Amino acid sequence: MYKKLIAIVPLIFVISLISSCGSPREQLVQQQLFTFGTLVDISIWTDKTEQAQQVIATISADFEQQHQHWHPTNSNSLLAQLNQQLQQGEVAQLDDSLFSLVQIATIFSKQSEGLFNPAIGLLVDLWHFDQLQQVSLDETNSDTLKPPSKEQIQALVNLHASMTQLELNPSLKQLRSRNPAIKLDFGAFAKGFAVEHAINTLRKAGFNNALINAGGDIKAIGSKGDRAWKIGIRNPFYQQQTDQPVIASMALKDNQSIMTSGDYERFFSYKGKQYHHIIDPRNGYPANGFHSVTIVHNDASLADAAATAIFIAGPEQWKKIAQQMGINKVLLITQTSELIISQQLKPLVSLADNKKLKTTVVNLE
Ligand code: AMP
Ligand code: MG
Repeated sequence: MYKKLIAIVPLIFVISLISSCGSPREQLVQQQLFTFGTLVDISIWTDKTEQAQQVIATISADFEQQHQHWHPTNSNSLLAQLNQQLQQGEVAQLDDSLFSLVQIATIFSKQSEGLFNPAIGLLVDLWHFDQLQQVSLDETNSDTLKPPSKEQIQALVNLHASMTQLELNPSLKQLRSRNPAIKLDFGAFAKGFAVEHAINTLRKAGFNNALINAGGDIKAIGSKGDRAWKIGIRNPFYQQQTDQPVIASMALKDNQSIMTSGDYERFFSYKGKQYHHIIDPRNGYPANGFHSVTIVHNDASLADAAATAIFIAGPEQWKKIAQQMGINKVLLITQTSELIISQQLKPLVSLADNKKLKTTVVNLE
Protein backbone atom coordinates (compact mmCIF):
# COMPACT_ATOMS: atom_id res chain seq x y z
CA MET A 1 0.00 0.00 0.00
CA TYR A 2 2.72 2.45 1.03
CA LYS A 3 4.76 1.69 -2.09
CA LYS A 4 1.76 2.61 -4.19
CA LEU A 5 1.57 5.95 -2.45
CA ILE A 6 5.21 6.90 -2.92
CA ALA A 7 5.37 6.04 -6.61
CA ILE A 8 5.70 9.14 -8.79
CA VAL A 9 2.52 9.64 -10.73
CA PRO A 10 2.84 12.34 -13.34
CA LEU A 11 -0.68 13.59 -12.94
CA ILE A 12 -0.57 16.66 -15.10
CA PHE A 13 1.90 17.85 -17.64
CA VAL A 14 0.83 21.17 -18.98
CA ILE A 15 2.52 23.64 -21.22
CA SER A 16 0.22 26.59 -21.36
CA LEU A 17 0.85 28.95 -24.20
CA ILE A 18 0.51 32.14 -22.28
CA SER A 19 2.59 34.90 -23.75
CA SER A 20 3.67 38.06 -22.01
CA CYS A 21 4.15 41.28 -23.98
CA GLY A 22 7.97 41.58 -23.78
CA SER A 23 8.80 37.92 -24.37
CA PRO A 24 6.26 36.26 -26.66
CA ARG A 25 7.90 32.84 -26.66
CA GLU A 26 7.92 32.33 -22.92
CA GLN A 27 5.54 29.72 -21.57
CA LEU A 28 4.47 28.09 -18.35
CA VAL A 29 5.79 24.53 -18.17
CA GLN A 30 4.09 22.68 -15.34
CA GLN A 31 4.08 19.20 -13.89
CA GLN A 32 2.29 17.65 -10.94
CA LEU A 33 3.77 14.61 -9.15
CA PHE A 34 2.77 12.49 -6.21
CA THR A 35 5.81 12.06 -4.00
CA PHE A 36 6.77 12.66 -0.32
CA GLY A 37 3.23 11.45 0.42
CA THR A 38 1.81 14.59 -1.17
CA LEU A 39 1.11 16.37 -4.46
CA VAL A 40 4.07 18.38 -5.71
CA ASP A 41 3.62 21.04 -8.40
CA ILE A 42 6.59 22.31 -10.37
CA SER A 43 6.03 25.40 -12.52
CA ILE A 44 8.70 26.99 -14.72
CA TRP A 45 8.30 30.18 -16.75
CA THR A 46 10.64 29.78 -19.72
CA ASP A 47 11.22 29.81 -23.45
CA LYS A 48 13.24 26.57 -23.20
CA THR A 49 10.45 24.02 -23.02
CA GLU A 50 12.48 20.90 -23.68
CA GLN A 51 15.21 21.72 -21.17
CA ALA A 52 12.50 22.60 -18.63
CA GLN A 53 10.94 19.17 -19.09
CA GLN A 54 14.34 17.57 -18.59
CA VAL A 55 15.06 19.44 -15.37
CA ILE A 56 11.57 18.58 -14.08
CA ALA A 57 12.36 14.89 -14.71
CA THR A 58 15.62 15.28 -12.74
CA ILE A 59 13.84 16.99 -9.84
CA SER A 60 11.10 14.32 -9.84
CA ALA A 61 13.69 11.56 -9.61
CA ASP A 62 15.52 13.46 -6.82
CA PHE A 63 12.31 13.92 -4.81
CA GLU A 64 11.48 10.25 -5.12
CA GLN A 65 15.00 9.16 -4.12
CA GLN A 66 15.01 11.53 -1.14
CA HIS A 67 11.62 10.26 -0.05
CA GLN A 68 12.86 6.68 -0.19
CA HIS A 69 16.24 7.37 1.44
CA TRP A 70 14.84 9.49 4.25
CA HIS A 71 11.92 7.28 5.22
CA PRO A 72 12.44 6.62 8.96
CA THR A 73 11.00 3.10 8.99
CA ASN A 74 10.99 1.42 5.54
CA SER A 75 13.50 -1.37 6.11
CA ASN A 76 15.66 -0.63 3.06
CA SER A 77 15.84 3.16 3.47
CA LEU A 78 19.16 4.81 4.37
CA LEU A 79 17.56 6.51 7.37
CA ALA A 80 16.06 3.26 8.70
CA GLN A 81 19.51 1.64 8.47
CA LEU A 82 21.05 4.63 10.25
CA ASN A 83 18.39 4.44 12.97
CA GLN A 84 19.22 0.80 13.55
CA GLN A 85 22.94 1.55 13.90
CA LEU A 86 22.27 4.45 16.27
CA GLN A 87 20.03 2.31 18.42
CA GLN A 88 22.80 -0.30 18.72
CA GLY A 89 25.36 2.35 19.66
CA GLU A 90 27.40 1.77 16.49
CA VAL A 91 29.38 4.44 14.65
CA ALA A 92 27.43 5.10 11.45
CA GLN A 93 28.85 6.42 8.18
CA LEU A 94 26.59 9.08 6.62
CA ASP A 95 26.06 9.89 2.97
CA ASP A 96 26.17 13.60 2.00
CA SER A 97 22.43 14.18 2.27
CA LEU A 98 21.97 12.51 5.68
CA PHE A 99 25.04 14.35 6.93
CA SER A 100 23.50 17.70 5.91
CA LEU A 101 20.11 16.76 7.35
CA VAL A 102 21.63 15.80 10.73
CA GLN A 103 23.91 18.84 10.84
CA ILE A 104 21.19 21.38 9.98
CA ALA A 105 18.54 19.66 12.12
CA THR A 106 20.87 19.82 15.13
CA ILE A 107 21.21 23.60 14.73
CA PHE A 108 17.45 24.16 14.33
CA SER A 109 16.71 21.87 17.27
CA LYS A 110 19.07 23.84 19.51
CA GLN A 111 17.65 27.21 18.36
CA SER A 112 14.12 25.98 19.12
CA GLU A 113 15.11 24.69 22.59
CA GLY A 114 14.30 21.14 21.46
CA LEU A 115 10.70 21.87 20.35
CA PHE A 116 11.71 20.94 16.81
CA ASN A 117 13.11 17.56 17.79
CA PRO A 118 13.74 15.05 14.96
CA ALA A 119 15.08 12.56 17.55
CA ILE A 120 11.56 11.66 18.78
CA GLY A 121 10.81 9.15 16.00
CA LEU A 122 9.71 6.55 18.59
CA LEU A 123 7.04 8.90 19.92
CA VAL A 124 5.88 9.70 16.38
CA ASP A 125 5.66 5.93 15.70
CA LEU A 126 3.68 5.38 18.89
CA TRP A 127 0.92 7.67 17.58
CA HIS A 128 0.78 5.74 14.27
CA PHE A 129 0.45 8.84 12.12
CA ASP A 130 2.14 6.89 9.32
CA GLN A 131 -1.08 4.88 9.02
CA LEU A 132 -3.05 8.03 8.35
CA GLN A 133 -1.79 8.16 4.79
CA GLN A 134 -3.35 4.79 4.24
CA VAL A 135 -6.83 5.32 5.58
CA SER A 136 -9.56 7.26 3.88
CA LEU A 137 -10.89 10.51 5.29
CA ASP A 138 -13.98 8.67 6.52
CA GLU A 139 -11.77 6.32 8.50
CA THR A 140 -9.77 9.19 10.03
CA ASN A 141 -13.03 10.45 11.45
CA SER A 142 -14.15 7.12 12.83
CA ASP A 143 -12.51 5.43 15.84
CA THR A 144 -10.19 3.23 13.70
CA LEU A 145 -7.05 4.76 15.21
CA LYS A 146 -6.67 5.13 18.97
CA PRO A 147 -4.32 7.38 20.93
CA PRO A 148 -1.62 5.46 22.85
CA SER A 149 -2.00 5.07 26.63
CA LYS A 150 -0.75 7.74 29.06
CA GLU A 151 1.79 5.23 30.40
CA GLN A 152 3.20 4.40 26.95
CA ILE A 153 3.60 8.10 26.15
CA GLN A 154 5.19 8.96 29.51
CA ALA A 155 7.61 6.02 29.26
CA LEU A 156 9.00 7.42 25.98
CA VAL A 157 9.01 11.06 27.16
CA ASN A 158 11.07 9.91 30.18
CA LEU A 159 13.80 8.58 27.84
CA HIS A 160 14.49 12.20 26.73
CA ALA A 161 15.51 11.53 23.12
CA SER A 162 17.30 14.68 21.96
CA MET A 163 19.62 15.82 19.17
CA THR A 164 22.11 16.90 21.87
CA GLN A 165 22.86 13.22 22.56
CA LEU A 166 24.18 12.64 19.05
CA GLU A 167 27.91 12.84 18.38
CA LEU A 168 28.60 14.03 14.84
CA ASN A 169 32.14 13.92 13.48
CA PRO A 170 31.97 16.45 10.61
CA SER A 171 35.33 15.62 9.03
CA LEU A 172 34.59 11.87 8.82
CA LYS A 173 30.78 12.33 8.39
CA GLN A 174 30.24 9.80 11.16
CA LEU A 175 27.45 9.72 13.71
CA ARG A 176 26.97 7.94 17.04
CA SER A 177 24.18 8.10 19.59
CA ARG A 178 24.53 8.19 23.36
CA ASN A 179 20.84 7.38 23.80
CA PRO A 180 19.30 4.19 22.33
CA ALA A 181 15.86 5.87 22.51
CA ILE A 182 16.81 8.17 19.63
CA LYS A 183 15.06 7.46 16.36
CA LEU A 184 15.55 10.12 13.69
CA ASP A 185 12.45 11.30 11.80
CA PHE A 186 13.02 14.32 9.55
CA GLY A 187 9.33 14.63 8.60
CA ALA A 188 9.12 18.17 10.02
CA PHE A 189 11.67 19.68 7.63
CA ALA A 190 12.60 17.16 4.92
CA LYS A 191 10.13 18.68 2.48
CA GLY A 192 11.57 22.17 3.00
CA PHE A 193 15.09 20.77 2.58
CA ALA A 194 14.04 18.94 -0.61
CA VAL A 195 12.35 22.06 -2.03
CA GLU A 196 15.51 24.10 -1.34
CA HIS A 197 17.57 21.44 -3.15
CA ALA A 198 15.16 21.41 -6.13
CA ILE A 199 15.36 25.20 -6.45
CA ASN A 200 19.18 24.92 -6.56
CA THR A 201 18.86 22.32 -9.31
CA LEU A 202 16.64 24.71 -11.29
CA ARG A 203 19.08 27.61 -10.89
CA LYS A 204 22.07 25.44 -11.88
CA ALA A 205 20.18 24.43 -15.04
CA GLY A 206 19.71 28.13 -15.85
CA PHE A 207 16.05 28.51 -14.81
CA ASN A 208 15.48 31.59 -12.67
CA ASN A 209 11.68 31.88 -12.85
CA ALA A 210 9.90 29.00 -11.13
CA LEU A 211 7.64 27.91 -8.29
CA ILE A 212 7.67 24.62 -6.40
CA ASN A 213 4.67 23.74 -4.27
CA ALA A 214 5.08 20.55 -2.22
CA GLY A 215 1.67 20.10 -0.64
CA GLY A 216 1.50 23.74 0.49
CA ASP A 217 5.22 24.05 1.27
CA ILE A 218 6.27 26.56 -1.36
CA LYS A 219 9.33 28.33 -2.73
CA ALA A 220 9.51 30.80 -5.64
CA ILE A 221 12.31 32.22 -7.73
CA GLY A 222 11.94 35.13 -10.14
CA SER A 223 8.47 35.75 -11.54
CA LYS A 224 5.78 34.36 -13.83
CA GLY A 225 6.45 36.63 -16.81
CA ASP A 226 5.53 40.17 -15.85
CA ARG A 227 3.65 39.05 -12.71
CA ALA A 228 4.86 37.77 -9.35
CA TRP A 229 4.11 34.17 -8.33
CA LYS A 230 0.93 34.43 -6.25
CA ILE A 231 -0.18 31.94 -3.61
CA GLY A 232 -3.01 31.60 -1.09
CA ILE A 233 -2.75 30.73 2.63
CA ARG A 234 -5.39 28.18 3.55
CA ASN A 235 -8.05 28.91 6.14
CA PRO A 236 -7.74 26.15 8.77
CA PHE A 237 -11.45 26.53 9.63
CA TYR A 238 -12.46 25.85 6.03
CA GLN A 239 -13.84 22.36 6.73
CA GLN A 240 -16.90 24.09 8.13
CA GLN A 241 -17.97 24.91 4.54
CA THR A 242 -19.33 28.33 5.47
CA ASP A 243 -15.84 29.81 5.58
CA GLN A 244 -13.61 31.22 2.89
CA PRO A 245 -10.97 28.73 1.64
CA VAL A 246 -8.12 31.25 1.88
CA ILE A 247 -7.32 33.68 4.70
CA ALA A 248 -4.64 35.61 2.84
CA SER A 249 -2.85 35.76 -0.48
CA MET A 250 0.72 36.72 -1.13
CA ALA A 251 2.87 37.73 -4.11
CA LEU A 252 6.16 35.91 -3.53
CA LYS A 253 9.44 37.71 -4.14
CA ASP A 254 12.50 36.08 -5.68
CA ASN A 255 13.90 33.33 -3.43
CA GLN A 256 11.06 33.53 -0.90
CA SER A 257 9.55 30.42 0.64
CA ILE A 258 6.39 29.97 2.65
CA MET A 259 5.78 26.95 4.89
CA THR A 260 2.76 26.03 6.98
CA SER A 261 2.23 23.59 9.86
CA GLY A 262 -1.41 22.92 10.68
CA ASP A 263 -3.45 20.63 12.91
CA TYR A 264 -5.74 19.88 9.95
CA GLU A 265 -2.99 18.31 7.79
CA ARG A 266 -2.86 14.84 9.35
CA PHE A 267 -5.14 13.81 12.18
CA PHE A 268 -7.56 11.22 13.42
CA SER A 269 -10.58 11.40 15.69
CA TYR A 270 -11.18 9.12 18.63
CA LYS A 271 -14.26 9.38 20.83
CA GLY A 272 -15.01 12.84 19.47
CA LYS A 273 -11.52 14.28 20.07
CA GLN A 274 -9.02 15.08 17.33
CA TYR A 275 -5.37 14.06 17.51
CA HIS A 276 -2.94 15.58 15.00
CA HIS A 277 0.63 14.81 14.00
CA ILE A 278 2.75 17.59 15.56
CA ILE A 279 4.00 16.29 18.90
CA ASP A 280 5.14 18.39 21.84
CA PRO A 281 8.33 16.56 22.93
CA ARG A 282 7.85 17.85 26.51
CA ASN A 283 4.70 15.81 27.13
CA GLY A 284 4.40 13.45 24.14
CA TYR A 285 0.95 14.72 23.09
CA PRO A 286 -0.15 16.67 19.99
CA ALA A 287 0.65 20.34 20.63
CA ASN A 288 -2.45 22.42 21.25
CA GLY A 289 -1.36 26.06 20.97
CA PHE A 290 -2.33 26.97 17.42
CA HIS A 291 -4.48 25.86 14.49
CA SER A 292 -1.86 26.81 11.95
CA VAL A 293 1.51 28.53 11.69
CA THR A 294 2.80 30.04 8.44
CA ILE A 295 6.39 31.19 8.11
CA VAL A 296 7.98 33.20 5.29
CA HIS A 297 11.77 33.04 4.93
CA ASN A 298 14.30 32.67 2.13
CA ASP A 299 15.57 29.31 3.45
CA ALA A 300 12.82 26.70 2.92
CA SER A 301 14.43 24.20 5.38
CA LEU A 302 14.51 26.78 8.16
CA ALA A 303 10.96 27.97 7.40
CA ASP A 304 9.71 24.35 7.57
CA ALA A 305 11.49 23.55 10.87
CA ALA A 306 10.42 26.89 12.35
CA ALA A 307 6.74 26.39 11.39
CA THR A 308 6.78 23.11 13.36
CA ALA A 309 8.70 24.57 16.33
CA ILE A 310 6.52 27.71 16.58
CA PHE A 311 3.37 25.58 16.29
CA ILE A 312 4.55 23.62 19.36
CA ALA A 313 5.76 26.72 21.23
CA GLY A 314 2.16 28.00 21.37
CA PRO A 315 0.86 31.44 22.38
CA GLU A 316 3.19 31.86 25.39
CA GLN A 317 6.54 31.08 23.82
CA TRP A 318 6.30 31.56 20.08
CA LYS A 319 7.92 35.01 19.96
CA LYS A 320 11.03 33.86 21.79
CA ILE A 321 11.42 30.77 19.57
CA ALA A 322 10.86 32.85 16.40
CA GLN A 323 13.54 35.30 17.48
CA GLN A 324 16.03 32.53 18.34
CA MET A 325 15.46 30.93 14.94
CA GLY A 326 15.88 34.24 13.08
CA ILE A 327 12.23 34.36 11.92
CA ASN A 328 10.20 37.58 11.72
CA LYS A 329 7.56 36.89 9.03
CA VAL A 330 4.84 34.92 10.78
CA LEU A 331 1.09 34.38 10.40
CA LEU A 332 -0.63 32.42 13.18
CA ILE A 333 -4.19 31.22 13.65
CA THR A 334 -4.93 30.48 17.30
CA GLN A 335 -7.33 27.92 18.73
CA THR A 336 -9.50 30.87 19.78
CA SER A 337 -10.03 32.18 16.21
CA GLU A 338 -7.47 34.94 16.39
CA LEU A 339 -5.22 35.81 13.46
CA ILE A 340 -1.82 37.07 14.59
CA ILE A 341 0.43 38.53 11.93
CA SER A 342 3.86 40.07 12.34
CA GLN A 343 4.37 43.65 11.26
CA GLN A 344 7.23 42.37 9.08
CA LEU A 345 4.88 40.10 7.08
CA LYS A 346 1.74 42.28 6.96
CA PRO A 347 2.75 44.56 4.04
CA LEU A 348 3.53 41.49 1.91
CA VAL A 349 0.10 39.81 2.16
CA SER A 350 -3.48 40.76 1.43
CA LEU A 351 -5.76 39.50 4.14
CA ALA A 352 -9.18 38.26 3.06
CA ASP A 353 -12.15 39.99 4.64
CA ASN A 354 -12.90 37.53 7.45
CA LYS A 355 -15.14 38.82 10.20
CA LYS A 356 -14.77 35.65 12.27
CA LEU A 357 -11.04 36.19 12.84
CA LYS A 358 -9.93 38.94 15.20
CA THR A 359 -6.65 40.28 13.79
CA THR A 360 -3.67 41.36 15.88
CA VAL A 361 -0.39 42.77 14.51
CA VAL A 362 2.80 42.05 16.46
CA ASN A 363 6.24 43.62 15.92
CA LEU A 364 9.01 41.01 15.88
CA GLU A 365 12.08 43.27 15.80
P1 AMP B 1 5.24 19.56 9.86
O1 AMP B 1 4.00 19.22 9.11
O2 AMP B 1 6.31 20.16 9.01
O3 AMP B 1 4.95 20.42 11.06
O4 AMP B 1 5.89 18.22 10.40
C1 AMP B 1 5.18 17.24 11.14
C2 AMP B 1 5.90 15.92 11.07
O5 AMP B 1 7.15 16.03 11.76
C3 AMP B 1 5.16 14.78 11.78
O6 AMP B 1 4.38 14.05 10.86
C4 AMP B 1 6.29 13.93 12.37
O7 AMP B 1 6.82 13.06 11.37
C5 AMP B 1 7.35 14.95 12.67
N1 AMP B 1 7.25 15.54 14.03
C6 AMP B 1 6.19 15.57 14.89
N2 AMP B 1 6.49 16.27 16.01
C7 AMP B 1 7.77 16.71 15.84
C8 AMP B 1 8.65 17.51 16.65
N3 AMP B 1 8.30 17.99 17.84
N4 AMP B 1 9.89 17.76 16.15
C9 AMP B 1 10.29 17.28 14.95
N5 AMP B 1 9.51 16.52 14.16
C10 AMP B 1 8.26 16.25 14.59
MG1 MG C 1 7.67 21.71 9.34
